[in-house]
Order: sequence, then C-alpha cells, then structure tokens
Amino acid sequence: DRVNNPYAGAKVYVNPEWSEKAAAEPGGSRIANQPTGVWLDRIAAINGVNGGMGLRDHLDEALTQKGSGELAVQLVIYNLPGRDCAALASNGELGPTEIDKYKTQYIDPIAAILADPKYAGLRIVTTVEIDSLPNLVTNVSGRPTATPNCDVMKANGNYQKGVGYALNKLGDIDNVYNYVDAGHHGWLGWDSNFGPSADMFKTAATTEGATVSDVHGFIVNTANYSALKEENFKITDSVNGTSVRQSKWVDWNQYTDELSYAQAMRDKLVSLGFDQNLGMLIDTSRNGWGGTARPTGPGATTNVDTYVNGGRYDRRIHLGNWCNQAGAGLGERPKASPAAGIDAYVWMKPPGESDGASKEIPNDEGKGFDRMCDPTYEGNARNGNSPSGALGDAPVSGHWFSAQFQELMKNAYPPL
Ligand code: BGC
Repeated sequence: DRVNNPYAGAKVYVNPEWSEKAAAEPGGSRIANQPTGVWLDRIAAINGVNGGMGLRDHLDEALTQKGSGELAVQLVIYNLPGRDCAALASNGELGPTEIDKYKTQYIDPIAAILADPKYAGLRIVTTVEIDSLPNLVTNVSGRPTATPNCDVMKANGNYQKGVGYALNKLGDIDNVYNYVDAGHHGWLGWDSNFGPSADMFKTAATTEGATVSDVHGFIVNTANYSALKEENFKITDSVNGTSVRQSKWVDWNQYTDELSYAQAMRDKLVSLGFDQNLGMLIDTSRNGWGGTARPTGPGATTNVDTYVNGGRYDRRIHLGNWCNQAGAGLGERPKASPAAGIDAYVWMKPPGESDGASKEIPNDEGKGFDRMCDPTYEGNARNGNSPSGALGDAPVSGHWFSAQFQELMKNAYPPL
C-alpha cells in the first residue's frame, strides 16, 4: 500500500554517478551527498549507457542505502516519441510515430524491473515525461508560439498515449508513485494556459487504461529556473494604481512564483477529479538566485517595472528562458513536506548537467542544437524575442558542465 507522502520519514537515493562528479569539483563535496533524479533518457539507460549504471544497478544500490529504514528513489521517465517538440536541445531517439517502440522497448522493460519483488520495499518515485503535455497546449497552431513538431505530436496523440500508457503500467506497481510533469508558473501560469493544461493532464491520465488513481501527484519547475517564492512583491500589489500583473516581467500572469503556482495547480487538479491527497513536488535544483545580484528588498515604486524588476530574485532576462541560465544558483536543498500540499522540494535535474549545447555538437543521442542555448541568440516568440541568457561553452544536454556547476554553488540560496 502506498503512503500519503513517499518522502515523509524517508531518506532519498543519492545517485553515486552524479555524486562522484559533484565531489570531484572544487567545493563540490558540500552537496555531493544530496539526492538527485536518475534520468532514464533513452532505452539504453535501462541497462546502462557506456558501462554506466543501469536501472537494476541503481535499485540494488538503493537497497543498500536504504538499510532498515525507508528510502525513496527518484526516476525520470523521459523518452516519448518526438520528444521536446518545441525545442531541439533534448530531442530524443524516438521519432514522432514510434509509440509502439516506446511502449514495448522502454516502458514495459522498466515496469518489469520495478515490479521485481526484490524492490518492493523501496518507494519508487517516477516523474513522467517532462515538458510534453504543456507543449501540446501552448506550442501548437493558434498560438504565436506554435512549432511544426508540436502540431505533429498534438495531431498524432502520441504524447497523451505515451503518458497514459506509462501511468497505467507503472501505476500497477504498488510501491511506485507517479508524478506527472506540470510545467512551471512562467509557462502555465496564464489563464489561457492554466485550465487547458489541467484538462490536458486529465485527458492523458485517463487514456490507454490509466485512471486518475494512477497519479500520486505532479511535479513543477523540472530543470527550470523559476523562483520558489518571490518575497519582494505580491501578485495583488499595485504601484501608483497599476497592478504588478501589468509589469513587463509578470505580463498578466496570475502567479509570481512556484510555490503559489504549485498549490493553485494542485487545487485545480483536485477539482477535476484527481485525488484529494494529491502531492506536489517542486524542483529546486537551480532556482536559488543567490549571490551578489540577489535583491535585498522591494524595488523602487517609481512604476510597476522598477518595483518588480528591482525586487525579483529571478534574474533572468525573460521568464521563457530555460537553457543554462547565467546567474542561477542552487535552490532549497531537498526536503520532505516543506509546505501545504507539497510532498517535497527535490533536485530532479542534477545540478551540473547541461540543458543543451551552446553550439552544434555532433552526438549519437538525437540531441539537436537549440539557439536558446546560444548566448548570442536574440530569441523567438517563446521568450518574448529576448536574449537567451545562456552561459557559453555548454556541452550537449545531460553532459557535465563544470562551469555551470561552479556558478550554481557560488549563487546558491540558501547559501552553502
Ligand atoms: C537531457 C537528458 C538528461 C537530463 C538530465 C535533459 O535535458 O536531455 O539527456 O539526462 O537533462 O540532465
């Protein structure tokens, strides 16, 4: 039987491969014992890529780390057909139509391993398919942000089918806790995106045999940089009679941070029929925004823009920027039950792993070059045609990016 919150009273699995890379960095031993997500980002990851640990290796090691107590292990299910339809940096190995391969060569083998009775004592957290369903809402025809690949994925239904299939198969295993990806406030926080995304989550969670009971919760801000709490301004504030919602930064969003967004999305999902006990996860791996640029109080009340821009912790050029953001820091350390409705703050994106290459780098992972990772890029409709804000000299997504790791530690908040 599942517990209400798999993180409560449990240790969380430390991935030895990430830990070793972190510990090898100057100063890295300060965080090398933190739990991070294990990304199953291709079929080969199930058995281990290039002699690295496979899923069974991780679960066996998890049993060792568990000892006689409770332990949660965090897996990221990330290999949909036509993956990452609005960007190029994390395109995957499966083409848009390869849904059967996704089912039989990816989800089925993972489910078979997770169902091994040997692992029944682990609390297995699975976060399901980052960015996919939100892309079907916001980046399709009818929106200025549409991409041809997202139109293809919306038309063929393979994201919803893949997510539904995964939830159903993994949800059949008693000690697996499915959390579906729910974007972040700087993406889905607008009225035009919020309700339609919640509806889309419901659709996917009730397709291919899945039901809402296969969903334990949702995760927000995965691999993103949105601040946990913006404390220097509130969505209800106004300056000289103008709402902060009209500032350039907030731009009519209903939310200013991840905590308020996660709690509101939770309420919305419960109202649509998801479990009353639904738990949210917030990825705080890289949303600390500390260091010398962190504002110490509210901005000047000259106008809404000086007020918001002077006070916001999130120092991005635009909320739509997502690749290797300059100035970012580690956020809250992983922690169980930190706030109402929140199961845990987690580090699902392993700090130090790149979001994408800053120039074209040939690779055999299906990863493309997305100019949002190029520091010289001037942007597109999805980031308000703003500079990308990305760090230079970044490797292919998922590969170790030492300079970013160092900057994340330097700008950590809370500080290390
Ligand atoms: C990459 C994956 C990687 C993950 C975690 C994603 O952006 O596409 O290959 O495993 O990040 O670093």
